[in-house]
Amino acid sequence: MNVCEGVTGAIGNTPLIRLARLSAESGCEILAKAEFLNPGGSVKDRAALAIIEDAERSGRLRGGGTVVEGTAGNTGIGLAHICAARGYRCIIVIPDNQSAEKLDLLRHLGAEVHPVPPKPYSDPHNYQKIAGRLAAELPGAIWANQFDNTANRDAHYRTTGPEIWRDTDGRVDAFVCATGTGGTLAGVARYLKERNPAVRIVLADPMGSALYHWVLDGELLAEGSSITEGIGTSRVTANLKGTQIDSALRVDDQQCVDMVYRLLREEGLFVGSSSGINLCAAMRLAADLGPGHTVVTLLCDRGGLYARRLFNPAWLREKGLTPPA
Ligand code: PMP
Repeated sequence: MNVCEGVTGAIGNTPLIRLARLSAESGCEILAKAEFLNPGGSVKDRAALAIIEDAERSGRLRGGGTVVEGTAGNTGIGLAHICAARGYRCIIVIPDNQSAEKLDLLRHLGAEVHPVPPKPYSDPHNYQKIAGRLAAELPGAIWANQFDNTANRDAHYRTTGPEIWRDTDGRVDAFVCATGTGGTLAGVARYLKERNPAVRIVLADPMGSALYHWVLDGELLAEGSSITEGIGTSRVTANLKGTQIDSALRVDDQQCVDMVYRLLREEGLFVGSSSGINLCAAMRLAADLGPGHTVVTLLCDRGGLYARRLFNPAWLREKGLTPPA
């Protein structure tokens, strides 16, 4: 028998998909890890599982306990699946500008959802800070704290990085992805650099995020704004700290939208905006490296979460974006 143990056993070991059109166009191997195939539908299942198992091992989370998190959606979805499977209560504090699909899904999964007005990280009413206070007040509760809990990064060091190395037979020239908590980029970068220090690690950043300038000139400076969800940040999290990043690329919303529709129409992949940012950056990186290189990135989550936004031409026009014909 070839079986996995429960829903958590099905997390990870996602396929690495070769994108035929983008590879042909660039002359490089453009490979994208299908993280949307995780049970919760995103890359964040890996961090959610690692955070819960770390808390269980340390004794902070016990039977019947509560998991509280401030999340823009996907981490909450991952946590809610695992909490259901393991009998924990799940409380999610989420900025109220996130897609309605995500809020509905969290409720269907049994999470208690607290939408709050979006506030900058410096504000005490920022959703992450509200989650931290809530967890401190509730007996038997842990705060998942995905941004600064390095169990998140460790998940990618132990799983995502080794899977990329294994599935490319070590022939990977560059890895590029956008960051929310930074856990994915940091964990994968650490693993790949250990195996081969020449692997190029590149951060892909949407507009409105401060990390592009931080990588290039050491200054946290944000310009513009973005419709993307789950990525972009104003600070260097504990997960991101100390990561060897070779360069950064910035992608605007129109380029992202064009790529997301291209992925659907040419490659048959229905994915969200962070995947669009990732593939735009992968194509630019491939052009910089020249033909014959292997560039790896991620398809982070499914397009269905954004049906009423990214895949709604009227909504795109409202945001000043041109829906692809
Ligand atoms: N893409 C999506 C859709 C996400 O939800 C997230 C996490 N919020 C990321 C990318 C970024 O992953 P990480 O937190 O590991 O940087």
